[in-house]
Amino acid sequence: MLELRTFAAHFPNTGSEYAILIYTVPEKIKSDIRLRATLRQQASARIPTQYGHFEMYAYSEDANDPMPHIAFVGEGFNPALPVAVRIHSECMTGDVFGSRRCDCGEQLDAAMQIAAAQGGVVIYLRQEGRGIGLINKLKAYNLQDEGLNTIDANTHLGFEADTRQYEAAIAMLNDLGIRQIELITNNPDKVNALKKSEIEIVGRIPIVIAPHAENQDYLRTKQDLMGHLLGL
Ligand SMILES: [Zn+2]
Repeated sequence: MLELRTFAAHFPNTGSEYAILIYTVPEKIKSDIRLRATLRQQASARIPTQYGHFEMYAYSEDANDPMPHIAFVGEGFNPALPVAVRIHSECMTGDVFGSRRCDCGEQLDAAMQIAAAQGGVVIYLRQEGRGIGLINKLKAYNLQDEGLNTIDANTHLGFEADTRQYEAAIAMLNDLGIRQIELITNNPDKVNALKKSEIEIVGRIPIVIAPHAENQDYLRTKQDLMGHLLGL
């Protein structure tokens, strides 16, 4: 069982109250995260999409893992050249159902377009199910609706800053033979985490998403408190 704790803090620069959720990750999940460094490519298949043609690779330790990490590789992919890469953490509400509480779905959509056009790669990490999970995310949303300006620290912000999750992405990029990347991100933490690997970042491709009324506070929090480069 994941333990959920909250505290509120006042940030003078923004004049707003934020509640930050702290999730205590149990030992079993911690060791699970460490094991991802030994991921193996289990299967791949051609997947035509609305964006273009992709080859989809599934990576896991166990061939029967029901939630493998995914690498979508765009047509024209050439690992001898710098590759446009998006590292995306699963957000079912945003990615699948188009939730406007965050900008994950729109970022994934933009990244798929870039990968299709440039022979790029979208790495899809199954963080939501293995990290805090959907249930805790919905509980966090309820806190927001009760009036707290909440950062969902684990799913969208804090946990992304944890470099351990990038071990899986780095293992997948290495397996695909990628040495140089242009990272599709607005998040400087992702750039910093990958700088510690052997993969060279030769550029950053920003994604500009127009804010909606429903996610304006969320995007501003990302920019003001987490250093995302959103130009708001
Ligand atoms: Zn999201």
